[in-house]
Amino acid sequence: MVTAKEPKQQVKIGPTRLLINNEWVESVSGRRFETINPATGEIICEVAEADAPDVDKAVQVARAAFTSGEWSKISATKRGELLYKLADLIAQNIDELAQLETLDNGKPLQDSLSDLELVIATYRYYAGWADKVQGKTIPINGPYFCYTRHEPVGVVGQIIPWNFPLLMQAWKLAPALATGNTVVMKTAEQTPLSALRVGELIVEAGFPPGVVNILSGYGPTAGAAIARHMDIDKVAFTGSTEVGHLIMEAAAKSNLKRVTLELGGKSPNIVFADADFDQAIAGAHDAIFFNQGQCCCAGSRLFVEEKCYDEFVAKTVEKARNRIVGNPFDPDTEQGPQVDQEQFNRVMSYIESGMREGAQMLCGGNRVGEQGYFIAPTVFADVRDEMKIAQEEIFGPVMSIIKFKDIEEVIQRANATMYGLAAAVWTQDITKAQAIANNVRAGTIWVNCYDVFDAAAPFGGFKQSGIGRELGEYGLQQYTEIKTVTIKL
Ligand code: NAP
Ligand code: MG
Repeated sequence: MVTAKEPKQQVKIGPTRLLINNEWVESVSGRRFETINPATGEIICEVAEADAPDVDKAVQVARAAFTSGEWSKISATKRGELLYKLADLIAQNIDELAQLETLDNGKPLQDSLSDLELVIATYRYYAGWADKVQGKTIPINGPYFCYTRHEPVGVVGQIIPWNFPLLMQAWKLAPALATGNTVVMKTAEQTPLSALRVGELIVEAGFPPGVVNILSGYGPTAGAAIARHMDIDKVAFTGSTEVGHLIMEAAAKSNLKRVTLELGGKSPNIVFADADFDQAIAGAHDAIFFNQGQCCCAGSRLFVEEKCYDEFVAKTVEKARNRIVGNPFDPDTEQGPQVDQEQFNRVMSYIESGMREGAQMLCGGNRVGEQGYFIAPTVFADVRDEMKIAQEEIFGPVMSIIKFKDIEEVIQRANATMYGLAAAVWTQDITKAQAIANNVRAGTIWVNCYDVFDAAAPFGGFKQSGIGRELGEYGLQQYTEIKTVTIKL
């Protein structure tokens, strides 16, 4: 592992207050909290801290915009045009947004830029859908004319995580707005800045007041206030499975708001001996180490067929050792810091548990540098299914390699988890690929590739990895209610 050069970067910060009704306001309490640069541990700035009273304020204006404001009168075509405009503004400011994302989150600048390509594509994709969401006419019995309307759900609460701040904002805002909802969004406490800058572009694009409200703040306060709010019609959440349970419970105990969840994973990545070896090595590496390992769909259980196990392990360790960790603003850097001290500690405690439980640590395991939250790419071999590092979501640059003998066995072991977000298989045998694709219970299966995302392709989890789908046409369904209208002729 090589350490890239020293950080030195001037980044424009953008707004640090709450966006409510197209105005930038301090929180009701007047409280602010610090956001940190994870590459140095230094404070970037303070932002306004929303709590329940701010959620109330935002819901009020979102409700007004939904029922009687300008938004409810705007045509579907115009909604699409506004989303296109927003996409254009993001594209015009792509470098500034990428820098802000990297500063606040720590991900390499190149990764922020590629996130932004998908951010822009997502807004454009749903802009195109805005005037193509339509119901059916239904030939029911009797002298009636029956049809359905796909109406917006109403005021939507959206709670997003810190691992892809701009992308998660886009995945949630774009389909909600295309279908005519209004939004109260809470960003993650670690990464409030880029979403606020997009808020500025939302106002500039010409979205009416109250349509998009962006609150920085903490989960147990502002987030929980959204989940239990009596005047929010739906909550969309991305984050840990643990908090996903709380969101659903709060929805059940309040007003039965609709719930969609995109939660954690422990995704099996299965390499057969007949795979294109170099492709599989590179793919397995990226599957776990991309985004500092902080991906809900990370290929965190790497199953390797016995016949090629030793060679695969040797080559994969060599590749991990050469990964460039360091200053995320350096164009050569492949891996930046973990997002904060807490995540750093969490990942290090999983590394300790791997060693304690007898997995073989072949590289990494240590902190990199004296400042910031950098962790060396870590590879464990001879991992057994029952070990904690094979069961729980580590959310860090820690690869767990597990040996398997045959396809029936690996399918059964791949499914032996509460998660079902994603899976991948590396093989040149179409029959094996199909067997994995059909029998592994996960929302996404990649064959000879990993982390291929497109605004048109749905993403979401089986089992405790979530409820509902984001992206694609399927993603729209989560933001509309179906109304049946029957007219006597
Ligand atoms: P998290 O707590 O689930 O955070 C996700 C979002 O939910 C954040 O905006 C968070 O606010 C909010 N939240 C937290 N508690 C809440 C509550 N009681 N009610 C409503 N909203 C609440 O995740 P985390 O603590 O940042 O990370 C812990 C672990 O979660 C990670 O190690 C990883 O395993 C997993 N994770 C998964 C994803 C994913 O994409 N599936 C993303 C992030 C994390 P705060 O900003 O205050 O936390
Ligand atoms: Mg930060």
